Amino acid sequence: MPELPEVETTRRGLEPLLVGRTIIGAAVRVTRLRWPIERGLDQRLAGRLIHSVGRRAKYLLVNCDHGTLIVHLGMSGNLRVVSAGVVPGRHDHIDILLDDGRALRFHDPRRFGALLWTTDDPGEHPLLVELGPEPFAAKMDGDYLYERSRGRKVAVKPFLMDQKIVVGVGNIYASEALFRAGISPGLPAGRIGRERYAKLAAAVRDVLGEAIEAGGTTIRDFRGEGGRPGYFARELQVYGREGEPCRRCGKKIRQRRLGQRSTYYCPGCQK
Ligand SMILES: [Zn+2]
Repeated sequence: MPELPEVETTRRGLEPLLVGRTIIGAAVRVTRLRWPIERGLDQRLAGRLIHSVGRRAKYLLVNCDHGTLIVHLGMSGNLRVVSAGVVPGRHDHIDILLDDGRALRFHDPRRFGALLWTTDDPGEHPLLVELGPEPFAAKMDGDYLYERSRGRKVAVKPFLMDQKIVVGVGNIYASEALFRAGISPGLPAGRIGRERYAKLAAAVRDVLGEAIEAGGTTIRDFRGEGGRPGYFARELQVYGREGEPCRRCGKKIRQRRLGQRSTYYCPGCQK
């Protein structure tokens, strides 16, 4: 599943190809992805000038004059800019046609992705309005996590993955950030002090920032803009390493289920 670093990598790859282009229409080859595709989408998009490509959590926001295209990659989606003449493959469901003879092509074998047009403030869209702060936002610091966690019995890992607390910390990155901060993933969120949360907030930023620099982690079938897998997976310290020695202390990495997700941790380094 594309996580925040993959989405940000996609955003950075697409931005120079899309900004300043005018959309001339859309070729829609499915009636629905996760939700139905709006009827008449091609007419609504035609003539729109793209002025920026943003991101909120794992949503890409193609900001145009008079509206925003909200795109989510779902479980298996990806976006590429191709020459409009390239014959679409089986899972190439939507082309957004551009005035330079190219198309923004949405590929999604499992069809859990989304492509929605809104003329309102995208931040007020029902999908986005309740999201917590971005991991790189100034307010997402140790004090913020500390305040939000008071009285919470939930384990710190699912707490960190709660999109209402902070967005974009998926399973891989939650495990990695907790390792770096030296915090055991099963510890109740409400019992962790301010200083440890300061370390955790910094670890979240570091782990996500490094993954973005590396072009996103490849775990299953995500492919970066150039069609090459990302390479951050090599640098994972705990995720997917059950039974292997911790690179810091040598103890065996363990795996347990927390909030129905596989959780990897080092019993030596994480207390
Ligand atoms: Zn260790």
